[in-house]
Amino acid sequence: MDAKLDIVIVGGGISGLSAAYYLEKAARSQGLWLQTTLLEKEAVLGGKIATQRRDGFIFEGGPESFVTRKPEAWQLCHELGLADQLVGTTRPGKNYVLHNGRPAIVPSGPGSFFATPLLSAGGKLRLLKEPFVKPRTEASDESLGSFLRRRLGDEMVDSVVKPAIGSVYLGNVDEMSVQVSFGRFAEMERQHGSVVKGMFGLMKEKRAERKASGGPRPVKTPAFATLQTGLMALIEALAEAIEGEILLDTAVAHLHHDLTTPKPYALSLSNGRTLLADLVVLATPTFVMADLLSGLVETAVTDQLHNIPYNPVTTVNLAFNRSDIADPFDGFGVVVPEAESSQLLAIEGMSAKFPHRAPANQFVLRAFVGGQNQPELASLSETELIGLVRVELEPILGITARPTRTHVQRWLPANPQPPVGYLAMITQIERALARQLPQLYLTGAGLRGQGIPDCIRQSRELVSQIMANLTENNPLQRDF
Ligand SMILES: Cc1cc2nc3c(=O)[nH]c(=O)nc-3n(C[C@H](O)[C@H](O)[C@H](O)COP(=O)(O)OP(=O)(O)OC[C@H]3O[C@@H](n4cnc5c(N)ncnc54)[C@H](O)[C@@H]3O)c2cc1C
Repeated sequence: MDAKLDIVIVGGGISGLSAAYYLEKAARSQGLWLQTTLLEKEAVLGGKIATQRRDGFIFEGGPESFVTRKPEAWQLCHELGLADQLVGTTRPGKNYVLHNGRPAIVPSGPGSFFATPLLSAGGKLRLLKEPFVKPRTEASDESLGSFLRRRLGDEMVDSVVKPAIGSVYLGNVDEMSVQVSFGRFAEMERQHGSVVKGMFGLMKEKRAERKASGGPRPVKTPAFATLQTGLMALIEALAEAIEGEILLDTAVAHLHHDLTTPKPYALSLSNGRTLLADLVVLATPTFVMADLLSGLVETAVTDQLHNIPYNPVTTVNLAFNRSDIADPFDGFGVVVPEAESSQLLAIEGMSAKFPHRAPANQFVLRAFVGGQNQPELASLSETELIGLVRVELEPILGITARPTRTHVQRWLPANPQPPVGYLAMITQIERALARQLPQLYLTGAGLRGQGIPDCIRQSRELVSQIMANLTENNPLQRDF
């Protein structure tokens, strides 16, 4: 009998690559003999991570940075030897909301809070009441909108939070699960009775930890980080570190399961080949998981995976000569509320956030188009999209100059929209799979969080689970 364990990972985005990387790492440390094969449908790895390096510019078509508060991406970059390539934000970002056609700064302190035109006096007063709002007692999920409306009031949600979250998740706060999108805040309410009290509690805990450790004040990690040559550098470093095979331009067309054969999984590939496996990890969008699992598990599971909504979005990067712009935008972004008659979801100050992404005499902005309310716009032609963004930018930022470079990236579909009750549904799906398809696992943005650090965390946790199952059930442990 072939004593080697064959593991196939489907999907070469950050989730699939980090699953392969951590699997190999864990196998080495636990003396398991395994061979990983990662299959990617496209000609390049990265999935939503899509950097284009051109003429001294770094254009990001998908994610452009990651948060460091969730440490997994930051840590993985260090582990892969990318520490000297990490670039952090050097200042707190100025964030804006479009208000009556002009960017209004989102308050970040008491002074700007009282002065902001974004909220009426009543809206501001309502915010100040947050610590005194009774906490919800049910532990069940609710929509992010319902959570925030209870805690902060409708005005704050409609004028500030809804557009900000909408531009990140491309969906509606009144439909998405608070547990998936902002579980941390729901937890603060449960533990401290209020988000504000929770934040103060967290600061106090951190101060106490620091005091107890007796160490010096740690060097502050920047809030957001990216890589000198773009986020694709993380994908390239992962691909380099993975010892197993990586097959590009190779889609899995069908998955078969037969427990009577020595290798229970057979994957039919787009190139006509069939690959046998002991264990399979699906790291694709959830609708692809649904297709691949169709006929292998109860239809309730595939229906649930199929029905997870994804909205389309297209990102449009525009570079300008700095000398052509009287007053280059200094903010990290402007989000656009539904009430404003704009065809944009958001504008990001790509150069303001990370100046290294363009030559010194250039300035890059990025617009988001599409989303839940205007999905058809995401499919316009490149010329139409660039024209649309230029027309929209003029009244908002006063930019009339012709761009020197453009980069358009379409994501049809883009990000999953986790509805209320989502985590419970995912847990149910995983239980059904464990019963019906042993040694088949799911990971990725469609499950328990979609930011890059969330994807890495999920794959890392999945590997711990796989290793626990393997070492418990499997005779293939080797004594190296
Ligand atoms: C416009 C945009 C901006 C974003 N901005 C940020 C940001 O700034 N920061 C942040 O942290 N996150 C951001 N995100 C979210 C984050 O980028 C994604 O959630 C994450 O990259 C998804 O990774 P994944 O590996 O789970 O899925 P994907 O990246 O979707 O990878 C899945 C892979 O599976 C492959 N595949 C599909 N079907 C098959 C098949 N049958 N056979 C083989 N392979 C298959 C696909 O080609 C793809 O490569 C953004 C997302 C978008 C769309």
